[in-house]
Amino acid sequence: MKESPVGQDQATCLLHSELLISGEAIQRRIAEMAVHIDRAYRGRRIVVVGVLKGAVHFLSDLTRCLSVDQRLEFVRVATYKNSTHAVVSARPEVFSDFDVTGQDVLVVDDILDHGQTARAVRDCLEARQPRSIRWAILLVKDGAIERAGFRPDFIGFEIHDTFVVGYGLDYCERYRNVPDIYAFEESQPD
Ligand code: 5GP
Ligand code: MG
Repeated sequence: MKESPVGQDQATCLLHSELLISGEAIQRRIAEMAVHIDRAYRGRRIVVVGVLKGAVHFLSDLTRCLSVDQRLEFVRVATYKNSTHAVVSARPEVFSDFDVTGQDVLVVDDILDHGQTARAVRDCLEARQPRSIRWAILLVKDGAIERAGFRPDFIGFEIHDTFVVGYGLDYCERYRNVPDIYAFEESQPD
């Protein structure tokens, strides 16, 4: 994949990409997920842990649909990818006031692919001995549950094993602001 020229309009860049999930469909699904999450935590107070940066829009929209009493924290996972975009290592970084000991944690992330990110976040959280950890992941790729060796508790959409952008997901840090999700195909300038 060749990077498109800097400054080129995003709509032009996504011309050859397939629209997979519209922004409206994402919002509808998030509202459904929120009902399940509220039900799972009824009467409790939870810590929502958002995984930066990809989960930023999902986290924002999901938490505003939830009515469970909650506190918000963030974790950032530095990932190093090889030429096929597979993550070769993942290192979590947390903010200093991060305390989840004895608490119910809901991790909110954008996508499950090989599970390296989820493993890094889980190890980092488990070291702090929370009462429970559950996972809300917007997108789960075909085969990801087998690759990762775990099934998220709350799943938005199951998608083909393809590279996607939009709604928080980037290609070289671009397209995170796009409201819909696309199967990314780099457009070739004329
Ligand atoms: P993992 O392979 O560890 O499950 O996923 C690692 C991270 O790579 C995800 O959290 C996400 O940020 C990124 N990633 C995985 N698949 C895709 C994809 O299809 N598109 C984009 N933009 N990022 C992805
Ligand atoms: Mg991510």
